[in-house]
Amino acid sequence: MKRRTFLNLGAVAGTATLVANPSLTQAIRTKPARIIVLGAGFSGLSAALKLHDANMDFVVLESRNRVGGRVFTHVLDDANDLRVELGAEWVGRSHEEVQKLCKRFDIELFNNQFETDLLFRGSYQPSDQWEYSEEWKKRFEEILKNFKNLSDAQQRELDNMDWWRFFVNNGIPENDLFLRELLDSTDFGESIRHVSGFSALSEYAESSKKNEMDFKMKGGNGTLARKITEHIGSDKVKLGYHVEAIEQKNGKVKVTCTNGETFDGDRLICTIPTFSLAKIKFTPALPKEKINAINALQYARINKHAVLFSERFWGREDFDLITDTSAHYFYHATKNQPAKSGALISYSIGEKADVFGWNDDHLRKQMVLESLRPLARAEDYFRKEVNYYWGSDRYSKGSYAVYGKGQWFNIRPILAAKFINIHFAGEHIADWQGFMEGAVATGAEAAEAALA
Ligand SMILES: Cc1cc2nc3c(=O)[nH]c(=O)nc-3n(C[C@H](O)[C@H](O)[C@H](O)COP(=O)(O)OP(=O)(O)OC[C@H]3O[C@@H](n4cnc5c(N)ncnc54)[C@H](O)[C@@H]3O)c2cc1C
Repeated sequence: MKRRTFLNLGAVAGTATLVANPSLTQAIRTKPARIIVLGAGFSGLSAALKLHDANMDFVVLESRNRVGGRVFTHVLDDANDLRVELGAEWVGRSHEEVQKLCKRFDIELFNNQFETDLLFRGSYQPSDQWEYSEEWKKRFEEILKNFKNLSDAQQRELDNMDWWRFFVNNGIPENDLFLRELLDSTDFGESIRHVSGFSALSEYAESSKKNEMDFKMKGGNGTLARKITEHIGSDKVKLGYHVEAIEQKNGKVKVTCTNGETFDGDRLICTIPTFSLAKIKFTPALPKEKINAINALQYARINKHAVLFSERFWGREDFDLITDTSAHYFYHATKNQPAKSGALISYSIGEKADVFGWNDDHLRKQMVLESLRPLARAEDYFRKEVNYYWGSDRYSKGSYAVYGKGQWFNIRPILAAKFINIHFAGEHIADWQGFMEGAVATGAEAAEAALA
């Protein structure tokens, strides 16, 4: 399914071309004999799999010492083999490409849906006892239904407005607005005051009932990265290879890594986040408008703090909880992993994530236990904790791209446009932006474009 209609801007990942110097368009373009893939996240691995299937010679260069990128499964409890996701958690019902890969690699998808309790203004309300107001529920239904009728001009207008402003202009009652801020900000990783109205509305209008929070892979989402790597050949995926320079000359691409090793190819598929992209020395230089687009895009701050407890005191396997505390949102991270012990993840966004990320485990533990107080004396069950703050991740400085006002239609096509023999891919330029699905789809599309 195409989630977000394009306004005929002519930029599908990796096909439109940007050139700094028109003479570069005459770059020699023969059939490629070797393709270099930059990044072994889901986008790079999806591209590599397409190249493998097409019997193309390729190499994947990955800076980290593991595959998966922002998919990061962690074993929290060795004794019971309990695994939690420090990066991407949910596979959506509409995420067809990821589901196809799971089928191909024989990975079972578990139901990972939750029923959300609410802790707001000190009052704890179980999932069946809180709701948006009837008035707002009705109004929002109409808004969602009307999405497909929006003209190009209306879509652009919506993109120029933030999601919070859109609600206010549509007469949302104040209490509903507070709840939407708490819940929707978990989807975008920042306050809804920073999110493009178009980017947000398209996501809610075209997502599954549970907003794509539907499944998780057995063994953790990292299993898919591992299985693809084994299938294409681990020797093709070079870990610990940090790319620092890319040169294009006479129709060839030459990549230099910080360890001094160089790689030559006919095309390059670049799947890295914009923060990393900005650090690479390109010869010839990237066009100014691409550099401006790279500099304009922000990534959301998300912190994940996983806590292992000796007992699942929250009771329900499908427990999650939205709060107005710094811990923000909790979910049962070991659903479908039978054991007496279990883990909750505190998932915080924006400045709340900064507070978690900047502090130490002592303070993080206090914030988590305090937020869970209405539920239980969680300290009685506490066993261990692990924290990952994506706002300071070395490669992305954030969890996923967050398109702000006016950015969806203005900068995304520029980021997606190819540059001579370099094709771009990755979550940040995808139709399903912010999802594994987007990473996989753009990787495959870029590989097809590079093979042509
Ligand atoms: C906290 C969090 C929660 C999320 N929740 C969900 C969710 O529930 N569902 C969902 O579908 N998605 C979710 N996502 C998003 C999902 O993880 C991403 O969309 C997807 O994994 C991005 O894949 P990618 O290949 O585009 O980028 P990445 O995974 O970032 O891959 C890029 C790779 O390039 C490497 N690299 C960077 N620079 C260089 C360099 N110079 N040289 C060599 N290698 C380099 C990086 O190390 C990285 O491995 C979440 C992400 C986070 C962080």
